Amino acid sequence: MKKIVCLPGDGIGQEIMNSALQVMTVIADKYQLDLVTEEHDFGGAAIDNHGHPLPEATLAACQAADGILLGAIGGPQWEEAEVRPEQGLLALRKALNLYANIRPVTVPTATAHLSPLKPEIVTGADFVVVRELTGGIYFGEPRELNQEDALDTCTYTAAEIRRILRKGFEIAQGRRKLVTSVDKANVLATSKLWRKIAEEVASEFPDVTLEHHLVDSVAMKLIQEPTHFDVIITENLFGDILSDEASVIPGTLGILPSASHGVGGLSLYEPIHGSAPDIAGQNIANPVSMILSMAMMLRESFGWEAPASEVEETCYAVMAEGVLTGDLGGTTSTSEFVEAVIKKIQAA
Ligand code: ATP
Ligand code: MG
Repeated sequence: MKKIVCLPGDGIGQEIMNSALQVMTVIADKYQLDLVTEEHDFGGAAIDNHGHPLPEATLAACQAADGILLGAIGGPQWEEAEVRPEQGLLALRKALNLYANIRPVTVPTATAHLSPLKPEIVTGADFVVVRELTGGIYFGEPRELNQEDALDTCTYTAAEIRRILRKGFEIAQGRRKLVTSVDKANVLATSKLWRKIAEEVASEFPDVTLEHHLVDSVAMKLIQEPTHFDVIITENLFGDILSDEASVIPGTLGILPSASHGVGGLSLYEPIHGSAPDIAGQNIANPVSMILSMAMMLRESFGWEAPASEVEETCYAVMAEGVLTGDLGGTTSTSEFVEAVIKKIQAA
């Protein structure tokens, strides 16, 4: 029995979480998956109900879970809050030691026309960005902001670099076996260490090909030739930028899932987008990002490959039929999209 903790959060979080859970119920029924869900307050909703974005009960439930689904958190109403919703997410990531952020991007032929890039460039793109999430310049000390100067520090230990690279190589083993390690080794000391460790880790994975790219040139190549890539592994800051850049390739933020893996085998799955307060409560959000996050959990945390693939393929098939939410230029509502997915799964 797999225990799934659901954190709907704020904005469109609740709507898209409900969507994903409806699809999960149907797929679980079809494949006889043994799972149970439990919902907890998190983010702004938790501030309103408990005075804190990460209540103890929520953290304890997450720590006892087999998988965690997160909708989205934050919104204008908590901008002035003493502890903001985002601090709850940082605290959760830290408590669960979620060091590896995985963002898959795929562009099937049938939905290539939804991309702002030319279909002949994006068709068949299928890659994963593996981003280090707990180190680098976002966490380095000292940090100083003065009137006439400022200081940030980028630090990485060999152990931190090794574990994220190993995670990426393991992912590559299950895919097309090409790792693109991204750094700025012509300038940065942390990148020189990164590149050296990438070579060491590569020798542990003789079946995987390793290539090195500088972050500036890879930013260009990602748009020029996205089909080249299989697994891109990089540090925190570079991964933040490249994964947002990559998110435009399929045509909308609203379809992209992510996973964050921890050291103890516990993982959190969430859309890459935020809580979209501008469209919350209107039943118009694209639920695909949350549905695909749920599918990723079935595969990566529970090893349920067939149901995960069926959910993913069904979402793309429904979109290919022109059933599209507003972010993709259509008029389909959130609940209509979910109905179409469920109908297709039940009919298959
Ligand atoms: P965060 O800082 O939390 O990442 P953000 O400021 O980047 O948030 P988002 O909440 O991701 O912003 O929203 C960016 C834009 O994309 C908004 O116009 C929002 O309505 C739209 N958007 C985000 N997610 C979806 C979705 N699932 N369906 C439709 N539109 C979406
Ligand atoms: Mg954002």
